[in-house]
This record gives sequence, structure tokens and C-alpha cells, in this order.
Amino acid sequence: MNPSKSVVIAIDGPSGAGKSTVARLVARRLDYLFLDTGAMYRAVTFALIRHGISSEDAGVARFLQRLRLHFSPDGERIFLQIDNDPEEDVSAEIRTKNVTDRVSEVAALASVRAKLTTEQRAIAEGRPVVAEGRDTATVVFPDASRKFFLTASLEARVKRRQAERPELANRPVAEVAADIQRRDEKDSRRALAPLRPAESSIQIDTTELQTAQVVERILSYL
Ligand code: C5P
Repeated sequence: MNPSKSVVIAIDGPSGAGKSTVARLVARRLDYLFLDTGAMYRAVTFALIRHGISSEDAGVARFLQRLRLHFSPDGERIFLQIDNDPEEDVSAEIRTKNVTDRVSEVAALASVRAKLTTEQRAIAEGRPVVAEGRDTATVVFPDASRKFFLTASLEARVKRRQAERPELANRPVAEVAADIQRRDEKDSRRALAPLRPAESSIQIDTTELQTAQVVERILSYL
């Protein structure tokens, strides 16, 4: 397909920079679909864990052919189906620590990236989207209408993660920070579609900004 036919606002950045919250609000304001590409990588990771398939397993590509993902119409919930089994809402399961700890190694696999990139483009063929992730501006939608790269200090990102996820609230700050850094490093160093700003991305440091300010700033560029 030709990705340039799609209307896409692409928002990338490291964990905890505020991408999801901001992308969701921008999508609502524009009446575009919110496309959480990270949820798709998480859902694949969850399915592999459940089926006891490690990321080194030669059977990953074959397993992916049996797996289907789809989002609820508002993009908030993600459903997983294996073969003809009943479809399952895995929106909560994909946020567990077990999945978070493994997702970056799964996201580095060529077979996983190929499948999800194709699916993300197909979703954006249907209607305009605000896509958020790590490679939406660089690889998935190189012709996106507008590209943004959100960053924030590690301290701010840890605070946000802890505020967002109740199970992290009581974990030591240093541990949460180490987990975030480990994941960012894996996402940035991988060979395929690493986390990095596109050349034409507008970079926004959100450390000192409220969510509403980031949303307004993005809308002001559109
Ligand atoms: O955004 P979120 O934290 O849910 O993303 C989970 C993981 O999915 C990231 O750490 C990264 O490994 C992977 N991911 C990716 N490419 C994307 C979105 C997410 O590799 N476009």
C-alpha cells in the first residue's frame, strides 16, 4: 500500500514522555482515531508468553499467522484472537510487569515488526489517525502529515509512570527509573526501526508542561 494516502499525525518518544495521554486527547479534538501502536506490541508479547513461545523461538513467525488483533472503535481496548478461538479483550493484561519486561525483545523481531507495521498502515487507510509509538514517524508513516517527538527528563517520566499505574506507586523510584532506562535503551539500540526522532519531527520537551499545554502546542502546528 502507499502510506502517503493516509492522514496521520505521528507522535513518538521514549516511555513516560506523555505520548498516550497527549495522542488520545489530540485524536479526540480532531475526531481522528487514536492508534496506540505500543498496545499491539504488548498484545503480541502477551500472546507469546501465554503460549510459552520465547522470542528466540523459530516458531514465532508461524505463530503470528494464527494471531489477529483489533481495537475497539475508540482505540482504547485491544482484542486478541488465536485461530478460531473466541476473541479476548486483553487491554488490562498487556499492562502487567511481565509483559512490560519482555515487550522490547519481542518488538525487536523482524517478523513481529513486519506484521504490526502492515496492520498499522491498514488501520490508517480506513480513517485519519493520531498514531503514537516509537517508529510511527520514521518507518510506519514516513509521509505523516505532522510528526512530533516528545521527550521529558527521566525524573518526570518516572513520576508520570507512577501516577498512571497504581502498581508502580509503591515501588522504589530507582527501580522504576532503571526499568524505564532499560526499555528505552533496548528500543533505541535495536537494528530495526529504533526509537529516534524523524528528521522532520517537531521535538517537544514535556518536562515542565501540563498535558493540556502539550496538546495545545501540537494543535497549534496543525
Ligand atoms: O508505548 P508502550 O510503552 O506501550 O510500548 C511498549 C513497547 O512496544 C515499547 O517499549 C517498544 O519496545 C515497543 N514499541 C515499538 N514500536 C512502536 C510502539 C511500541 O517497538 N511503534
